[in-house]
Amino acid sequence: MLVNIIITIFLIIVILLIIFCPGANDGEDASFTHAKKEVLKNFKVTAYCPGACCNGKRYAGRVAIGRGMEYWLKQGYNICAVDPKVIPLKSLVIYKGKSYLAADTGSKVKGKHIDILLETHKKTVKFGVKKNQTITVISY
Ligand SMILES: [Zn+2]
Repeated sequence: MLVNIIITIFLIIVILLIIFCPGANDGEDASFTHAKKEVLKNFKVTAYCPGACCNGKRYAGRVAIGRGMEYWLKQGYNICAVDPKVIPLKSLVIYKGKSYLAADTGSKVKGKHIDILLETHKKTVKFGVKKNQTITVISY
């Protein structure tokens, strides 16, 4: 009888340790071990397209971190431009449930402002300017 109680208590402790042990997911999330997650408020969000209209002829299709827009899009990333003084390049920016790789910069993207890459210029016009937005930044 006493043995049964001891075994039951032992099992409960083991289960609690498995559930609450903070290191339990270390193996899966190894790349996120040093990630920093920040919620940032009062951001301005605008959009741009890959064309010369939004980048100038010289920078059309290019991004600040190199390899070109196409490469990162093919890797499955959405792209946004940031002010690297505010958001480090290559961070992940989460805005309205969608994540964007902070791959680009822009002469007009300064301070608390992100510029999201959309497929067409028409879509950027429709997107307009959104003020007082909240974003989440995951940086490494
Ligand atoms: Zn454009």
